[in-house]
Amino acid sequence: MIDSDVQALADLLESLGIGFGIADARGQAEVANRWLGSGAGLRSASIGLADGRQLTLRLPVAFDRHLGGDAETRFRLLAEHSTDLIIAVDLDLVIGYASPATSSMLGCAPEALQGHTLAELLVPEERAAFIARHFTRSAGLASGPDLFRALCRDGSTRWVEARVATLPPGNGLGDYLVTLRSADQRRRSEETLGQANAELSALASTDALTGLPNRRQFDATLQKEWYRALRDGTSLGLLMVDIDHFKSLNDLFGHQVGDLFLARVGALIRDSVRRAGDLAARFGGEEFAVVLPGTSVAGAMDIGEVVRRSIAAADFRSAVQGGYGVSVSIGAAAMVPVPSASAARLVQDADAALYQAKRNGRNRVEALT
Ligand code: GH3
Ligand code: MG
Ligand code: MG
Repeated sequence: MIDSDVQALADLLESLGIGFGIADARGQAEVANRWLGSGAGLRSASIGLADGRQLTLRLPVAFDRHLGGDAETRFRLLAEHSTDLIIAVDLDLVIGYASPATSSMLGCAPEALQGHTLAELLVPEERAAFIARHFTRSAGLASGPDLFRALCRDGSTRWVEARVATLPPGNGLGDYLVTLRSADQRRRSEETLGQANAELSALASTDALTGLPNRRQFDATLQKEWYRALRDGTSLGLLMVDIDHFKSLNDLFGHQVGDLFLARVGALIRDSVRRAGDLAARFGGEEFAVVLPGTSVAGAMDIGEVVRRSIAAADFRSAVQGGYGVSVSIGAAAMVPVPSASAARLVQDADAALYQAKRNGRNRVEALT
């Protein structure tokens, strides 16, 4: 036999899942295909050649005894050529077989997994839940795809979609067949989509000029807090804030500078209302609204006074050279909700109080008397 013929024979037998090798008289390998040295539970036979060399063939035990030659070969062929990582484990989840996709998926040779447990392929925090889902008495015989993070040889992690099937007894491969498919791409798409949705919904509820929650979010929050206060029997407070003589400020400096003032006033209101659950929003135009859960009229007036002072004390030099004084008028209202009333009533009260503050000279906080 010439060398190229021997190699062709080794390749042919490898494609059938059969180990083939020739060693010299001292036992040194001259030719060895992939299956010759791999795997436990394989049957082998050797014959001495006339020149003293030794020819060895290796056959999987399951080949003839359990699955029958064709089935075993088909399995090998499928597993060896699949981009999915196919793993057979025993009842203790010890890995008996791993397909070549181990290298591309986990960054190590299939042989490196032999004798290790399936759990070692998972990031530690996901091991217990994964095993409970697939390998306990209550787990199904064959389970649907399950997304988890696999641990690669270099310590990095990657998203993997796993399927687990129970193998019939005495099949020679193991007790469970686990198929792992890379889910990095799918996971990345889901994350990008989730992020885009979150950004979109933030955009839809934020006022572009001031960065404060917009009218839409104000309405939703007020409604939610109204029902919460109705249920809990607590007082819900509300402030309506309107910039004084804003029209003449626009006339004096122009609309663009007017916008700078608006953004600055918005920031000052937001910074004056810091309690968790409070919500400062742009109500529309140069009007702002503040929802104050768990707050009485007196409490709302106190917070309104903090807002009023912070704006009256600001110099707005960031908007115009030398600064310019701006004040706000604030209407405060609060009520313990009753089923016969609605949140609109609270807005009406705060609005009426705001116009009372305007009538009484501006730069003040008032509640309906
Ligand atoms: P006062 O509230 O003290 O009674 O007087 P005012 O001049 O502020 O009156 P009003 O509240 O009715 O004025 C609203 C003004 O706010 C008119 C409008 O040009 C201006 N405005 C509303 N939205 C914007 C905006 O987004 N940017 C700018 N620059 N101006 C706005
Ligand atoms: Mg106004
Ligand atoms: Mg105004």
